[in-house]
Amino acid sequence: MILSAPWIVPITTPAIADGFIQIKGSGINYLGPQPLPATVETVQVLDRAIILPGLINAHTHLELSHLQGEWQQPRDLPEWLLRVVALQQQLSQTELEQLTVEAVQRGVEQSLQAGVTTVGDISRLCHLTRPLLTNGPLRVVSFGEVIGIGRRRHLIDDRLRIAADTRYNSPHLITGLSPHAPYSVEENGFKKVIYHAREHDLPVCTHLAETIEEIQFLQTGLGRFREMLETLGIWDERIPIPGITPIRWLCQMGLLGPDCLVAHGNYVDHEEIDLLCATGTSVAYCPRTHQHFQHEPYPLAELLGGGVNICLGTDSLASSPSLSILEEMINLHEQHPELPPELILQLGTINGARALGLAQQIGSLEPGKTADLAIFQLPDDEEFDTPADALLSGQCRLHQLYVAGEKIR
Ligand SMILES: [Zn+2]
Repeated sequence: MILSAPWIVPITTPAIADGFIQIKGSGINYLGPQPLPATVETVQVLDRAIILPGLINAHTHLELSHLQGEWQQPRDLPEWLLRVVALQQQLSQTELEQLTVEAVQRGVEQSLQAGVTTVGDISRLCHLTRPLLTNGPLRVVSFGEVIGIGRRRHLIDDRLRIAADTRYNSPHLITGLSPHAPYSVEENGFKKVIYHAREHDLPVCTHLAETIEEIQFLQTGLGRFREMLETLGIWDERIPIPGITPIRWLCQMGLLGPDCLVAHGNYVDHEEIDLLCATGTSVAYCPRTHQHFQHEPYPLAELLGGGVNICLGTDSLASSPSLSILEEMINLHEQHPELPPELILQLGTINGARALGLAQQIGSLEPGKTADLAIFQLPDDEEFDTPADALLSGQCRLHQLYVAGEKIR
């Protein structure tokens, strides 16, 4: 199959005007400004279209999609987490399972409609979500969430066993692990999970340096997260308090690395940025969720300047208005008009692929890579200098979507 469009945006090479792309089986065979010589295939001409690699949402929680629009407040993370726990405790097991299935289906649908072909999905209920996701069409790195601190530290082994279950691995699903966060997993738990991941070659994602309260908790054992653990009846005096910041803590334990994706990284200093860069650790920035919780300005320029691989996530629908990475890019463009539009497109494509360990297969349009394509339609009545300008104007709509060469939309 050959597609032709006014713009093809490979991401890792300059945009091609009036270009051609040939898909063979599940892969990209050719792309360029001319059709392949001597080809017998007919060319499908897409008027006013931009062909991009499928967008990559490096950090989300599909199973929380039922919380869309539920909470304007609170904006404080400990309070938010307590609400999630309380909500889940109100439900029977059957109700929770039903809600989870519907939430995942809704999340998948919203992602595909937005041109997202790959997600890094954190899943606490991964024994329920992986069977739903294993056959696609969405490509998913399913980070099984592991939690266990204080009086619940004994749950780590059980949770790890469930989270590390690779039986649903498929062409669409890769099993990963997620030690949840420094206020929900202790030093031994973090080590256990990440050592297991390294032994079995599983990618890792963890929530890190997300709030000032998290830093306070690690440094002093006090504050809102201590109160949250007490409210939940989990706190005990044996919880080790490292007395240092989250990035330094993980680095000291030898747990940062190219196989470890940090979700958020909202509060980092220059030395920590150097640690992230030196260890090849990627960071997923969630612009609209960041705004929802009214954090201090994100250290984007510092992270990019420090050479850290920054990618984009939405986080869940409980804190983000949609699962659209294009909308995150548009938000980022509005906040940072000084950033080159082409760089913003990289954050939502190739950088996400690198963060998820999939850069050999996806994230850009190159011969030999998998044909995951998001094709957007330009508006009828406006002209743009570049395809990146058009996409970030907010006026393009998804036209077609391909995953592994198969048309999904
Ligand atoms: Zn998250």
